[in-house]
Amino acid sequence: MPEVFKTTCCYCGVGCGVEVHKSRDGSLRVEGDKQHPVNRGMLCSKGMNLHYTVMDTADRLRYPEMRHNRYLPRERVTWDTALNRAAAVFKALIERHGPESVAFYASGQCLTEEYYIVNKLMKGFIGSNNIDTNSRLCMSSAVAAYKMSLGEDSVPICYDDIERTDCIFVAGANPAWCHPILWRRVEAAKAANPKLKIIVSDPRRTQTCAIADVHLQVRPGTDITLHHAIARILIENGDIDADFIHRHTEGFASFSAQVMARSVAEAATVCDVPEAHIRAAASFIAHAEGLVTMWTMGLNQSVVGVNKNLSLINLNLITGRIGKPGSGPFSLTGQPNAMGGREVGGLANLLPAHRSLASEEDRRFVRRFWNSGPISPDAGYTATEMFEALADGRLKAIWIMGSNPLVSLPDVRKAEAALSKARFVVVQEISSKPETLRYADLVLPAAAWAEKEGTMTNAERRITHLGKVVNPPGEALPDAEILCRFAQKMGFPGFDYASMAEVYAEHCRLTEGTRIDISGLDYTTLQEKRAVQWPYPRQAPAGGGQQRLFTDNKFYTPSGRAVIHACDDANHSEHISPDFPLVLTTGRIRDQWHTMSKTGKVNKLKQHIAQAFLEIHPHDAVARNIKDGDIVEVGSRRGEVRVKATISDDIKQGVVFLPMHWGKILGNDLNRANNTTNNLVDPISKEPDFKFTAVAVQLYRKP
Ligand code: SF4
Repeated sequence: MPEVFKTTCCYCGVGCGVEVHKSRDGSLRVEGDKQHPVNRGMLCSKGMNLHYTVMDTADRLRYPEMRHNRYLPRERVTWDTALNRAAAVFKALIERHGPESVAFYASGQCLTEEYYIVNKLMKGFIGSNNIDTNSRLCMSSAVAAYKMSLGEDSVPICYDDIERTDCIFVAGANPAWCHPILWRRVEAAKAANPKLKIIVSDPRRTQTCAIADVHLQVRPGTDITLHHAIARILIENGDIDADFIHRHTEGFASFSAQVMARSVAEAATVCDVPEAHIRAAASFIAHAEGLVTMWTMGLNQSVVGVNKNLSLINLNLITGRIGKPGSGPFSLTGQPNAMGGREVGGLANLLPAHRSLASEEDRRFVRRFWNSGPISPDAGYTATEMFEALADGRLKAIWIMGSNPLVSLPDVRKAEAALSKARFVVVQEISSKPETLRYADLVLPAAAWAEKEGTMTNAERRITHLGKVVNPPGEALPDAEILCRFAQKMGFPGFDYASMAEVYAEHCRLTEGTRIDISGLDYTTLQEKRAVQWPYPRQAPAGGGQQRLFTDNKFYTPSGRAVIHACDDANHSEHISPDFPLVLTTGRIRDQWHTMSKTGKVNKLKQHIAQAFLEIHPHDAVARNIKDGDIVEVGSRRGEVRVKATISDDIKQGVVFLPMHWGKILGNDLNRANNTTNNLVDPISKEPDFKFTAVAVQLYRKP
C-alpha cells in the first residue's frame, strides 16, 4: 500500500487540497483531497501533474555554487562557505553603505513561515524594510483598495458564497483558466441554478465568458467608467440599499455626484461596449439578492489599479451586498500564498499581523516581541523600485528567493541591466533554468513543494498545512533553514527554531489581539483540521475560523463605516499613437505557471498550448498583411518581441494579447513578452501596468 500524505497545491491562490500517494519504490501520484473544503477532490490540469515537478529532478540545483568575481564561473562550495560569504558581503555593505544598501526579493510561492523569517531578519535585525515580493506584481492594488474602503486588507467572503449567490460579476479575470477549480464551482452553481447571472468584463472573450449572461468587452483601461455607469443606473433606478448606505458607509454623496457627471451613453462610448450590455449588467445586479464581485489582474495590474478596485467594491457597498451570504467583494489571489505573505508583513510597507510600519506603537511592539533592533519607519523599496535602486547604485546587493524577475518584471531589459550592475546577487532557487541565475554570484539550492513543510493561506483566508513527502535532491535545503542559517552567520539571535511548528507558533502569538488573530489555531490543530479560515482567536468557538467578515456591518475604518470612494475614472497608462496604435495586454494560459520553472518541465502541460503566441483580431491582422501562424514583431517604446500570430475574433479590435510565461520565445534567449511592457506603476499600490502597453505589430522580416 502506498503511503498517503495530505498537502496543498502550490500553484494558484485557490488552495486545493492534495493527497500525494508515495509507493515503496518512491514514485508519486497525486489525487484531489475529497475531504478538503476547497476542492472536494477536484484538481485542475496543473494540480493533477504536480508530482512530475518533484519526481523529475534533472534540472534541479543540488549544491551551493559561488563565484569569486563576475569574470569567473561559479563553482560548487559547501553551505558554510556559501553562507559565510553571503554574511561577509552583507555585513561589509551594511557597514559601509547602511542597511538600505541590501534587499530581499521574495515570492508569493514562499510558505508563510519562510516569509515570516525573512521579514523578521530584514526589518528587525538588518534594519531596513527592503523586503518585497513578486506578489507586488499581482495583488497589491487589491490590498490598498481593501484598506481604503474597508479599513483593512481583509477579503470579506468565502468560496461557499459561490453556491449562495445569484449574481457574480467577474471583472478583469479569467478564472476558468487561472483559478480553474473555483470556476468549476461557479459552473456547477450555474448549472444547478439557472437564475444565477454571470457578468464578465474583459477585452478578450475568454473561456470564462462561456457561461456569461453578458460579456462586456471593454476597451482596456476603461473599467472605472464601466463600474461608474453601472452604479449610475442602479442609483437612478433606486436599486441601491439606502439604509445600508446611510448607516454603514461614508462618501456616497460625492460618489453619486461623480457618477452622475457622465451619461451611460457616453460611458458606453468610452468603454466601447453597447449601452444595452451595460444596462443588462446593471439589471442583473438590481434583480439579484446577492452580488459577488470577483477580480484579478485586469484590475490590479494597472497604473490606476487601486481606483479600479475601489470602483468595483463600490458596487457592493451601494447595494449593501457585503457581510451577507452570497455577497461581497472577492479579489482572487494569483499566487498560492500571496495572502499568507501579507499576514506576516512580507511587503516593503507592512509589519506582521497587518500592523502598520507608520505607527510608532506598532514598530515598538514588534521590536520588543522580536527582541530586535529599531524598525525603520520608512517603507522599503517595492519590487520595481528595487531594480531602479540597483540601476542607480543606491542598492548594492539583492537576494532573490523563488522568483524569476528577468522574465516577470515589466520593462525587463532595464531590470536586467540593473541586475548586471549589482555588486552581489544571491539567487535561492529550486531549478537551474531560471534566467535570473545568469547574474547570480551565489546560488543556493532550495527544497521544492513536497520537500518541505509549512503553511499557506488561500484567497478566502483559509490557512492550510503543507506536509513534507520526500527529501530534496542533493544538498538542497528548505528556504526557512537557509534563511535561519544565514541569520545566525550574521550573528542575529532568535533564528534557532527547532521546527516549522515553532516558527508558526511565534507568528500566531504576534497576531494576538489583531484583526487577523490566529492565536487559537495551534500547529497540531491546523494539521488535524487541514484548512481553517482566519481570524481564529483563542476564544473562538469550537470549529473556529470565520467564513465571512463584516457580518455586523462594522468596518475596520476609524469611523466604523465603509468608505465609498469617488475615484477619478481617467486611465493614466501610456498613450497609443500612430507609431504604437495597439494595446498589448499580457496574461496567463491555462496549463503554465509564471515563468515555467515547474510547469515547463511537464510534457503533458505542453499539450494544451505549446508555445507563446500573439492573439490579434482579424481586422488588425488583415491591415498588417498578417496570416495565422506568421512570425510577427511586437514593438513598444522600450523593446520588441518576436512571436507567432494567432488570429482570433475573441480579442477586441485594437488590442493584442501575449502570454507572459516564456523567457525564450521561438527558442531565442531574451525574446520575452516583458521586453515591451512599461514600468509605470499605480501611485498607491506600486503595482505595474501590465495590462496596457502601446505597441506596433508587423510581419517579422529577417534582416
Ligand atoms: Fe492547484 Fe489552483 Fe488548480 Fe487548485 S485550481 S489544483 S490550487 S492550480
